[in-house]
Amino acid sequence: MPARTASDVIARLQSNPPHLWVDGAPVDDPTTHRYTANACHSLAALYDLQHQPDLVDTMTFKSPTTGDRVGMSFLVPETREDLERRSAMHQVWANSHLGFMGRAPDYLNVNVMAAGMAADYFSGNDPRFGPNMANYFEYVRENDLALTHALTNPQIDRSKRDSEHSDPYIALGVVRETDEGIVVRGARMLATLPISDEILIFPSTVLQRGDDMNRYAMSFAVPNDIEGLSYQCREPLDLGRSHADHPLGSRFDEMDAMVYFDDVLVPWDRVFLMNDVELANRAYGDTGAVLHMAHQVVNLKIAKTEAILGTMQAAVDMIGTGQYPHVQEMVAETIIVLETMKAFRVASEAGATVNQYGVMTPLRGPLDAARNFYPKVYQRLVEILRLVTSSGLIMIPTAADFDGPMGESINKYLGSAGGDAETRVRLMRLAWDMTISGFGGRQAHYENFFFGDPVRMRQALYNVYDRSAYVDRVTKFVDNTTWPN
Ligand SMILES: Cc1cc2nc3c(=O)[nH]c(=O)nc-3n(C[C@H](O)[C@H](O)[C@H](O)COP(=O)(O)OP(=O)(O)OC[C@H]3O[C@@H](n4cnc5c(N)ncnc54)[C@H](O)[C@@H]3O)c2cc1C
Repeated sequence: MPARTASDVIARLQSNPPHLWVDGAPVDDPTTHRYTANACHSLAALYDLQHQPDLVDTMTFKSPTTGDRVGMSFLVPETREDLERRSAMHQVWANSHLGFMGRAPDYLNVNVMAAGMAADYFSGNDPRFGPNMANYFEYVRENDLALTHALTNPQIDRSKRDSEHSDPYIALGVVRETDEGIVVRGARMLATLPISDEILIFPSTVLQRGDDMNRYAMSFAVPNDIEGLSYQCREPLDLGRSHADHPLGSRFDEMDAMVYFDDVLVPWDRVFLMNDVELANRAYGDTGAVLHMAHQVVNLKIAKTEAILGTMQAAVDMIGTGQYPHVQEMVAETIIVLETMKAFRVASEAGATVNQYGVMTPLRGPLDAARNFYPKVYQRLVEILRLVTSSGLIMIPTAADFDGPMGESINKYLGSAGGDAETRVRLMRLAWDMTISGFGGRQAHYENFFFGDPVRMRQALYNVYDRSAYVDRVTKFVDNTTWPN
């Protein structure tokens, strides 16, 4: 199937519903369920953009195997221009949800692309696994599937190794091998977008070394309706309110879930890696996947920052506070964040090089900087939006209030310099959903953790960033200085 439409996406979620559990009950049809329907339709709407006549060339390219048009996020970049082409696609999707769907499918599409191209890496584990990874990339691309993923083991007791818990299969592990495949048991977290077609289990980012950890080192993919798999969803943030009342939460609650594997049989052709902690720990880095994912993320965060800046400036104009220097300063601070993120993207593309698997891969330095910069600065963006809107975030009567007996007073007292009461409340509700609503709170938490623990990300940067040339330069400078003059 070439690039899917919205109705294709909905039809597949209906015929192969992921095994979701929400608020104590199973979800039979996520596309109509009160807690997941809106998000399913927002997800599906992304796919219709692939068919919008003026966007077809931005959103799709011709499949190298079928000649059909397939999603641009599956493009294997060979040149820097290809990366820019792909960026344009990321931006169309991200702008359509204002950057508030953190796990739109293009995030994992580029992961699967990079891993599929790095088939030899997985063959180093088992000669069958490389072709499996390459075939899976082609399968996902040709069927335009939406994936979720879950990298970390349950948060039981981080002072222990996963093998030391009361049950060695709390963390997801391989129980046994059979003629058909591997049987896996345990749990992973935290799968955002469980309203999708398949789950990609990639090696948990850093496993401790030792033979006792081998069973936890694995990579595979299975459909979300496979026997034995279930998703325990968090409490929904789509509370069933209208788009006017909850402009983001009613559309983009992509959901997060623990994933339980109750002796799931993974067929051999879906196994990409097992039993090798070293290979598992290096997989994201050595295949280049993490850099392509970070490149998608930078595009996404640019869209999100633009949306926050646009909301901020519209609110400032609406309540007439643009003349105050501290307000100008805070808006300027947001502009600086935006331009910094744009610069990271450009730098990552300009410095891209072809990796050992023939894939044009964005430059690591700017992307590492971006992924360490944004989680912290996002919290500040939220703070600024709160500070410039102040009580405007609180006095946001509902659509029902406008229609009720208090409507006249609301229209009189909630007007603004920049528009009538309804226009003002619509805008402030957007600002509220970006910041202090339940949806906004989850977004702030998401930004802190979605790419990993910020503490360990900085430690990793400390460990990989080569600054020897700078040390040498300074050392020479110091050595050439005569003392004490
Ligand atoms: C909203 C949300 C959505 C997410 N979506 C996804 C997703 O789609 N897919 C996915 O795979 N993951 C997802 N994640 C999970 C994310 O990858 C993890 O939250 C992140 O890697 C941190 O791991 P943890 O939550 O297990 O925290 P923990 O590892 O349990 O850390 C808890 C605290 O202990 C500290 N700590 C623990 N161990 C160490 C250590 N060894 N050294 C130093 N400090 C340590 C941490 O700094 C932190 O303060 C999501 C997370 C959130 C919050």
